[in-house]
Amino acid sequence: MPTFLPTTQKELHSLGWDQLDVILITGDSYIDSPFIGVAVIGKVLQQAGFKVGIIAQPDYQSEVDITRLGEPRLFWGVTAGSIDSMIANYTATGRPRRADDYTPGGRNTKRPNRATLVYANLIRRYFKDTVPIVLGGVEASLRRIAHYDFWTDSVRRSILFDAKADYLLYGMAERSVVDLAQALNTGEDPTSLRGLCYIAKQAPSGYLTLPAFERVAEDHDAFIEMFHRFYQNNDPLSATGLAQKHGDRYLVHNPPTPNLSTAELDAVYALSYARAQHPYYETQGSVKALETIRFSIPTHRGCYGECNFCAIAVHEGRTVRWRSQDSILAEAREIANLPDFNGYIYDLSGPTANMYGFECPIKLRRGPCLDKNCVYPETCPVLPVDHKIQTDLLHKLRQVKGVKKVFVGSGLRYDLILSDEKHGEAYLKELVSHHTSGQLKVAPEHTQPDVLARMRKPGLDKLLAFKQRFDALSDEVKKKQFLSYYLIAAYPGCTLEDMHALKRFASQKLGILPEQVQVFTPTPSTYASVMYHTEKDPFTGEPLYVEKNPAGKKRQKEVITGSGKPPQRHRRGKAK
Ligand code: SF4
Repeated sequence: MPTFLPTTQKELHSLGWDQLDVILITGDSYIDSPFIGVAVIGKVLQQAGFKVGIIAQPDYQSEVDITRLGEPRLFWGVTAGSIDSMIANYTATGRPRRADDYTPGGRNTKRPNRATLVYANLIRRYFKDTVPIVLGGVEASLRRIAHYDFWTDSVRRSILFDAKADYLLYGMAERSVVDLAQALNTGEDPTSLRGLCYIAKQAPSGYLTLPAFERVAEDHDAFIEMFHRFYQNNDPLSATGLAQKHGDRYLVHNPPTPNLSTAELDAVYALSYARAQHPYYETQGSVKALETIRFSIPTHRGCYGECNFCAIAVHEGRTVRWRSQDSILAEAREIANLPDFNGYIYDLSGPTANMYGFECPIKLRRGPCLDKNCVYPETCPVLPVDHKIQTDLLHKLRQVKGVKKVFVGSGLRYDLILSDEKHGEAYLKELVSHHTSGQLKVAPEHTQPDVLARMRKPGLDKLLAFKQRFDALSDEVKKKQFLSYYLIAAYPGCTLEDMHALKRFASQKLGILPEQVQVFTPTPSTYASVMYHTEKDPFTGEPLYVEKNPAGKKRQKEVITGSGKPPQRHRRGKAK
């Protein structure tokens, strides 16, 4: 019977504990799910023998919540939650968001702006001279060195300086958080641990120095140089430690922690998760996020797509690691046994759905190439693309007793499918026949070659070839289903005319009036945010047109959607 981590004194005492080793603070409600980072970290620490509690969405105006579990023996872990709090709280054009899928009741009233800073300060306010405060999660991870912050239109210091915290664990931190807990438990100095950032008076010897914060805040070229060095030192097999001066101190960035092996990932997902919101928070209302993640299964991590607007390469890494089929099937059986399971697994997911089960042998030996990309502009011949592994997995999942349907809801990299001459077509047929719920999501993001190149997205020939195969296979299996396209407006380099061209293309060649258009938001620590901030192409140094005016961004979006929101209408026709 899966159990929750304690969130109240009463629960603590019912476990026979007086004090916790670690208290985790999060900006999401406490959802005990393998999709929720703080729950995974808590369960991994517990498995390693530590007593862990969670305080979710604490009231940041009073001591009521933050003091609820007392003071931990080893450290406080602080995360803003599953999403950067500024992205969770504001739209790309700066309007406050009313809804929050991770807050009970769905109203966005609990997550403060810059939640990581707010929670770290809250701890300091009520616990003077306390044990170390450790930052983690996506907000801290993407703000770990000096970074462009869209909401203040400025370059900010490492979040470790602003939060007055002691350590920051970046990326997927199951291994590094246990290493840290063990070091603190035995009184060892944790500063040499991989995956950890800290502040020091000196840069450690042998570390690569990034241009100082004060310089990158003023000088666009220095900012670009900083980001290249940071990006290239982000793989566990090849990275050098980094140091960046802020004032008279240094942010020290140790090399990344090694990726978890398949057996280690299986062990993380074999831990018991309640797949529900903790009853303490459930009384405040349900959380929308659970509707999909409750009956979904994560299959792998990491992405070598390296789209320039996406932070996954920096947060999760460019090497894909996956769970074994046995582990995934065991989770499917567990879900199928849940009393309210309706037979539908909503998403078999990873950052890019069809990167499961194969990786480049060279990358696995020495880390990713620094001078080329695995799938852009073409799929690298060294990458052993093989969709048979995923086709087999989907087939086996369909045989699990109680499972009626398994959907592949997260984005597909269609160019990879096309480049798999041996098994790509069979995989697509499997998807089209059994795993598509009326629409299959794809993310071309744009249609204009210059914009696509700045996104590092595949060309239109591939999109059209994929659409042709998808439509033909859907006809063959006699299913009326469509592709659904994600698109971005106001990306760096994108003009109003580019949006008109996109609209013409979508109408004439794809046969749709798309509605899934988002205005571009510069996520910290992405190449796209570098472009947005510097108004330069970071790879060529060329000046770049960047729409920064909110009204101009809105106009770009409205080229597609109009000022209202028409439904996405499909006209099948043939791809031209
Ligand atoms: S050899 Fe090709 S597939 Fe392997 S890491 Fe380099 S670019 Fe990627």
